[in-house]
Amino acid sequence: MSLKNKSAIVRITPSTQPIFVEEVVAGDLCTGCGVCAGTCPTNAIKMVLNKRAEHVPLIDRQNCSACNLCVEVCPGLLNMDAELNEFVFNRQPENTDVGNHLSIFVGYATDRKTRQQGSSGGLATAILGYCLEMGRIDAAIVASESHDNPLDFRGRVVHSVDEIRSAAKSKYTSVDIGGALSQLWRKNLRFAVVGLPCHIEGLRKAQMRMPKLRRNLVLTIGLFCGHNVTRFLTEFWIACSKTAVKDVRAVRYRGTGWWPSPEGGRAVEFESKNGAKTIHGWRDSAFQIGWDSKIFVPSRCFACLDFSAELADISLGDAWLDRYKDGVEGMSIGLARTHTGLEIVAAMSEEGVIDLETAGVSDFYDSNRSQIDFKKRDIWARLDIRTLLRKQNPDYPWPRNFRTSTRERLIALEQYLVNEIAVVLHRWRILQHIPLKFWRNYLYRGGPLKRAILLGRRVKQKVHKLVAATKKNSFCL
Ligand SMILES: Cc1cc2nc3c(=O)[nH]c(=O)nc-3n(C[C@H](O)[C@H](O)[C@H](O)COP(=O)(O)OP(=O)(O)OC[C@H]3O[C@@H](n4cnc5c(N)ncnc54)[C@H](O)[C@@H]3O)c2cc1C
Ligand code: SF4
Ligand code: SF4
Ligand code: SF4
Repeated sequence: MSLKNKSAIVRITPSTQPIFVEEVVAGDLCTGCGVCAGTCPTNAIKMVLNKRAEHVPLIDRQNCSACNLCVEVCPGLLNMDAELNEFVFNRQPENTDVGNHLSIFVGYATDRKTRQQGSSGGLATAILGYCLEMGRIDAAIVASESHDNPLDFRGRVVHSVDEIRSAAKSKYTSVDIGGALSQLWRKNLRFAVVGLPCHIEGLRKAQMRMPKLRRNLVLTIGLFCGHNVTRFLTEFWIACSKTAVKDVRAVRYRGTGWWPSPEGGRAVEFESKNGAKTIHGWRDSAFQIGWDSKIFVPSRCFACLDFSAELADISLGDAWLDRYKDGVEGMSIGLARTHTGLEIVAAMSEEGVIDLETAGVSDFYDSNRSQIDFKKRDIWARLDIRTLLRKQNPDYPWPRNFRTSTRERLIALEQYLVNEIAVVLHRWRILQHIPLKFWRNYLYRGGPLKRAILLGRRVKQKVHKLVAATKKNSFCL
């Protein structure tokens, strides 16, 4: 059943519903998606950057009619509740790690340029381009850098295949799609959106409330998302490369190569205004160190449960599978979740626009095991820490499946503190002077707390062994 035929408008009623989105922001629950700004009927919301470089909404009270739509479309409060799954799929997921889906596949765009220009297999770009050429959509919202700041990426409305191609590749930073959405949804155009799980969730909530969006937004492509980072990480990486941010003209988070091999492989790149290019292999870069040690992760990402854009028509991620390790060209893993999504990828595959191979749930797990664990298991320890810090947690629909240990909670607390300290040190311009060796040690040997816990465990084991040996000896006597 297509969404436009759905008649029921379901009101979203989280147990502790705030009145305005400012309360979402104050509760560290804002994902920075911009859906509230994009759907506000009076255009009273502007997205701004806060002190942590997170995109947050700012309401102009003079223009606000207190309709509460912004709160109802907000993905920050409630995640993938039963009503949303019912609305999109007419059923609940069997496996809540994977979400509702009709098929899992691996593949790539057969047009070599699209594949090479893409983050993994170039499937997102190929699908959008195909839908535009076939007249299934009139426009799309993609992520692209703003004209005045190369570090600022926003949702952009595009109408041609060339524009879709030029917006390919992942932007490892928050992207607010508010401006693009408000431009499009009022027009009578059929459009597609590519976005992270939080974008897709906000859009689905908006579709529940807004019949026009239900009619016009005909395709959602969701990207897998382990976590995001703020633009502070890009600034930190550029500063570590002894370059001033103001001298940078363009940034590419997924430059040359695909698999992050020790010999180089996948790269992060920036281009200075004088034309000089700085290219770092993923494994050697300050960007990777900051990414993997999870400094500059927006607060809300630590409380996010959706890894694979569980409400999208099609979800796409990197096929980090051993069998593709030696491949130099990118490979995507994807899920067709709705009939619309399945029909599109099947038609493209039949016409040879994309090359697909059937995959299974085990491939889904194998491609992103640590990211899935981070989102689906470790989250409960982080939510405990939020509760300890008296922060409101998003209203999750499913019963909690895991008990967290003290150790897990301590590690979550350490992660939270390191993140907070990194933000302060970066704002004081101190962080870039800390040798990268320190971060590498932190990353690969664990932080002081993790090391103390491991040491404690070893001492405990030794004491146990000693006690056991003493008991045995005394028995013998
Ligand atoms: C912040 C972030 C975290 C991710 N984490 C993971 C992960 O943990 N595991 C994994 O397997 N994959 C992850 N991905 C997805 C992966 O990097 C690829 O985007 C995905 O495999 C699609 O590749 P592609 O070649 O098909 O897309 P492409 O053809 O390169 O097209 C990508 C499309 O996504 C849009 N886009 C890029 N960045 C953003 C953004 N920040 N917000 C909204 N739209 C955007 C682009 O405009 C483009 O249209 C992440 C992506 C992002 C942006
Ligand atoms: S309450 Fe309504 S008018 Fe006011 S900011 Fe929210 S969506 Fe806009
Ligand atoms: S809709 Fe998005 S940007 Fe607006 S408050 Fe909610 S999470 Fe933040
Ligand atoms: S981790 Fe969740 S909240 Fe953060 S960017 Fe990804 S989908 Fe959005």
